[in-house]
Amino acid sequence: MSKINTVLGQIAPEELGLTLPHEHIIAAYPGWECDPLAKPYNQEKIVGTCVKNIEPVKQYGVKAIIDATPVDLSRNADVMKEVSEKLQIHIVCATGRYTEAEGKWIYFKRRESVKIGDMQTEIYDGFMQEINYGIGQTGIKPGVIKVATGLNRIAPCEDATLRAAARASRETGMPITTHTEDGTMGPEQADILISEGAVPEKISIGHMCGNSSLDYHLDVLKRGVFIALDRFGIEMKMTDQTRVATLIGLLEKGYANRIMISHDCMAAVYGRGGRMPMEEVIKFKNWSFTNIFTDILPALKKAGISDEQIKTMMVDNPRRFLSGD
Ligand SMILES: [Zn+2]
Repeated sequence: MSKINTVLGQIAPEELGLTLPHEHIIAAYPGWECDPLAKPYNQEKIVGTCVKNIEPVKQYGVKAIIDATPVDLSRNADVMKEVSEKLQIHIVCATGRYTEAEGKWIYFKRRESVKIGDMQTEIYDGFMQEINYGIGQTGIKPGVIKVATGLNRIAPCEDATLRAAARASRETGMPITTHTEDGTMGPEQADILISEGAVPEKISIGHMCGNSSLDYHLDVLKRGVFIALDRFGIEMKMTDQTRVATLIGLLEKGYANRIMISHDCMAAVYGRGGRMPMEEVIKFKNWSFTNIFTDILPALKKAGISDEQIKTMMVDNPRRFLSGD
C-alpha cells in the first residue's frame, strides 16, 4: 500500500474517501494565453469561482477530486492548493499531456526535428521531474499521469506520451489516467501502456461512456484495467440516459470493482469568457459537479444497483487506483 500525493502533501489511502476521479479545477484549451481580450489572471477571483462551483459536492460527502488537467491545458497547482485548503477536499493533480490535435506540441516537435532531443525521452524526463521534484517551484507533486489520444487514431505525439507514461509508471508506481476521444482507442491505449510495462491495475481508461457498445467496454476490461465513465452531464454527444444504460449493463455483468464515475467538469476556465447561445446551453444543462448525486445515482438505484456497488465505484476503486491498495 502506498501513500497518495495530494496538492497538500501525502495522505494515507484510507483518508481519500468518496472521490470524483476526473474533474478539472481550472483549465482551458491552448490559445487563450495569446488572446489580448483574455481576462487578466487574478488568482483570488479564480479560487473564489472554483470554491463556489465545487462546494456543493461537500453535502454529498465528496472527500477527494482527481484533477485530470494535463500540463498543456494550463494546469494550475497553486490554484488547486488554495481550493483544497479552502474546501478541505483532497485534490490529486496530474502531470501529463493532451492530444496531438488539441494540446501544445510544436515545441517538442521542433526540438525533435532539429535533433536536440527525442520526444518520447523528453516527455518522460518531464514526467519524472514533476513526480520526483514537484511542479515548478511549488513543491506540489502529481498523484497521477494523464495521457490522451484523438478520435479513432493514436497520433505520434500521443504514442510517445503513452510510452513515456508507461515507463514513468513502471519506475515510480504512479497511476495513469487516460482521455479517449468519444470512447475510441481504449483497447489500443491499454495495449500500448501494458506492453511498455505499466501494471493494468494502475491504468484507468477514461471517457469510456462516449461509447455505448458493451462489447467495446468488455474488450477494454478484459485487459485488467479500470475504466472510467466520467462524462456524466455532457449530453452534447451522448445522453446521460445512454451513459446510465451502459453503466447498468456493466454493473449487471459484475464489473463494479473496475469502474469509476465522474463528470469531467471544469470549475473555472481561462480566457475572455462569454455566453453560449441557448441551443448550446441546453446540451450542457446537466453538466455540474453534483449531477452524479442528483440524477445518476437515483437512476442507478431505481434500476436495482446497490449502495455497496456505488461505494465500490466511488470510494474503493479510486483508492485502489491511486494507491495500489
Ligand atoms: Zn478531462
